[in-house]
Amino acid sequence: MNPTGTVPLVDLAEQHSRIAREVEESVLEVLRSGRYTGGPVVEQFEQEFAAYCGTAHTVSVNSGTAALHAALLALDIGAGDEVITVSNTFVATVEAIVAVGARPVFVDVYADDHTMEPGLLEPAITPRTKAIIPVHLYGQMTDMDPILDIARRHGVAVIEDASQAQGAAYNGHRAGSMGDIGCFSFYPSKNLGSAGEAGACVTSSGSLAVELRRVRDHGQTERYHHGTFGLNFRLPAIQAAVLSVKLRYLEEWNDLRRAHAATYQTLLSGSDLILPLERSGNRHVYYVYVIRSVDRDELATHLSDHGVGTGIHYPIPVHLQPPYEMYGQGPGSLPHTEELAASILSLPIYPEMTERQLEYVAGAVRAFAAPVATMP
Ligand SMILES: *Cc1c(COP(=O)(O)O)cnc(C)c1O
Repeated sequence: MNPTGTVPLVDLAEQHSRIAREVEESVLEVLRSGRYTGGPVVEQFEQEFAAYCGTAHTVSVNSGTAALHAALLALDIGAGDEVITVSNTFVATVEAIVAVGARPVFVDVYADDHTMEPGLLEPAITPRTKAIIPVHLYGQMTDMDPILDIARRHGVAVIEDASQAQGAAYNGHRAGSMGDIGCFSFYPSKNLGSAGEAGACVTSSGSLAVELRRVRDHGQTERYHHGTFGLNFRLPAIQAAVLSVKLRYLEEWNDLRRAHAATYQTLLSGSDLILPLERSGNRHVYYVYVIRSVDRDELATHLSDHGVGTGIHYPIPVHLQPPYEMYGQGPGSLPHTEELAASILSLPIYPEMTERQLEYVAGAVRAFAAPVATMP
């Protein structure tokens, strides 16, 4: 029934097999060039990615976590400052805030699309607030217009965590291009993934681009002159070579992810599951396909028994994780975030999935999801 025996959550070996020759040739070129960090291959990727995002500059770094860390350092955010973000995110968003010595302040998310609820921002702003970090979760951009409006009125910076949203758009604006700085991860499973660890900051501010370039290279203003604090966040040239090849496929891959999501929508509608919501004006690029079920854990077990890989993005909100509890208000303080963590389940979605695999997964879900209860 299922030609591959299983349907994994992601299949990076399959992705590589389709573009192997191009990727392997460009990696070999870097190896033979003798330029392993910085240099023309990195600069070329930076130009291509800036053009893709519609920003003036890309400053590549060596992870998405580093991108967020560099953005906060470039904006001179540190001890005594507050940064507002969501708890419904991958932990790295909050790690970066704590790493610069600032205090994370959590606001809740919309129950329907799981992204930051802008109406909750104003009461969370204090004289110490220096930035807001909306997270474009699962491949869909946050409701940016009201966030940018509030930030402008309060003189606060906006850093987009666009790690899960390469190529997503909001009213025609690409992810990363709307705030002061957009941060991306190119972790291998992301829509645009490296063959290891990689990330980038994008900005249209020339002065922030200069700051970001210093921060990623030990704060150097010129060789061995360390004018500002920095670290080593430089991107290895091999990763830039891989990313340049894959960037040429990103639009096609995102379109396939959207087509697969539409197929799931057709095959799963009418069940008692809550399916992902694409807000009007948005281009969702489905980094993950997240459904909600009252019997999430049983459904995950059932799917695993049928050879279908699933994930939970994420099972424990950041404000309930030990190192970050001290910054939040404890259990019950972010009701939507906490409800979602208990009911979300990510189904396989990746460009190379076949129609048969989609039908197999949907069939396995439907076999379990015979209506037994309704969502609260
Ligand atoms: C993946 C991810 C990061 C971190 O990226 P790394 O490259 O793994 O450091 C940050 N924020 C979000 C929302 C992510 O999904």
